[in-house]
Amino acid sequence: MIIDEIREIAMDENVAVWGIGPASEMADELPGHRPEDLLPDAQSLICFGIPVPSRVYQMPNYMLETIWRSQNLNYRRLDTLSMRFAALLEESGAQAVPIYGCLPMGVNNKGEMERPKAFLKQITKQFAVVGYLNQIRMGEVTGIGVIGKNGLLLHSQYGSRLMLGGVLTTARLPEMHYPEIEEPGCPPDCRICVDACPVNAISGEEKRVQIMRCLGYTSRTPLLPKFRFWVLSKFRPEAAARLMNLTAFDEHTFHICSRCVALCPYGRTN
Ligand code: SF4
Ligand code: SF4
Repeated sequence: MIIDEIREIAMDENVAVWGIGPASEMADELPGHRPEDLLPDAQSLICFGIPVPSRVYQMPNYMLETIWRSQNLNYRRLDTLSMRFAALLEESGAQAVPIYGCLPMGVNNKGEMERPKAFLKQITKQFAVVGYLNQIRMGEVTGIGVIGKNGLLLHSQYGSRLMLGGVLTTARLPEMHYPEIEEPGCPPDCRICVDACPVNAISGEEKRVQIMRCLGYTSRTPLLPKFRFWVLSKFRPEAAARLMNLTAFDEHTFHICSRCVALCPYGRTN
């Protein structure tokens, strides 16, 4: 019954891909970033994706501006859908929390987007996205895609262009994914994203992106008071995170690089 309602909303809202998987598959994420840290007794997770249109990443002019606007509209849509699915699950008697994409996120006392303290010990984990719960891993657990060398979720139809939303719930839901595609993953000899990254942030075989190196190059956040942020991050990282989440949210951050998405040939038909 609840699955039928989820399916119906996904169809009505033109959700391109969605899947359900067991929350226990993410139990080995690092402390603070595990399902149980966000919803005790979480049983299932739902992940869904909406693509940015393919040609946006090939525009001869205004590409970065159009990516910026497209992504921000998608963030709103995805987060609203996360809320809708969570409300639906609550109405059915379960508990549920939305899992948002880019922001909000934490900040550590070095002014870095929060990364688990054991980062260096676990360098094979994925850190392309630093949400409270790793959405890219959620995408893999729910079977809607496979993680590529660029650290993003790859899909045969949408390449690296999927943007993700999610929900964590105490309901025990059956595992499924739509559409039912098994992804082959990156061709072994492809290194396009690795070679294209202007700051060598992509490690390739480890499917890992050095997120601060990437963000340090690509992000522009003119409304973020840099000195105040730096001071707060030293002494009150939680206040620094709130400042960043307020001033860098969605359209207040502009990215000057999207090469690892734009040049990725995965799933491209034209
Ligand atoms: S967005 Fe640009 S800087 Fe960041 S990982 Fe991709 S290619 Fe590198
Ligand atoms: S550019 Fe090549 S190696 Fe990089 S993610 Fe795409 S298919 Fe994989």
